[in-house]
Amino acid sequence: MGTPKLKRIDFGAAVYKVEYVERLLADDDNEKLRGQISHTECLVSLEESLDPQDQFITTLHECFHYYISQYGHSDSINPNRLEGVINTLAVGTTLLLRKNPALITMLQEL
Ligand SMILES: [Zn+2]
Repeated sequence: MGTPKLKRIDFGAAVYKVEYVERLLADDDNEKLRGQISHTECLVSLEESLDPQDQFITTLHECFHYYISQYGHSDSINPNRLEGVINTLAVGTTLLLRKNPALITMLQEL
């Protein structure tokens, strides 16, 4: 049993397709990426070879990019700190849910 693969992410206001890419590179400088989100294509791209924990964190990372961008907060965070802030949220949320699974149960009962 491998890591479950998402086909899409429903953000409420928009549904983005999810694709898994063998070698994900940045458009501008060929830097290797773990994940990427395109608001113009409504597409989340994830590096296929990441281990399951890293893939989960990267998925959350791209989701936080969506909310910060689409809710107009891109200029609220120093651009040099944006990736670090988003990564802190992704890792922190993963740890919070892992250490407190009752939160997931609580959410499912809302
Ligand atoms: Zn990022």
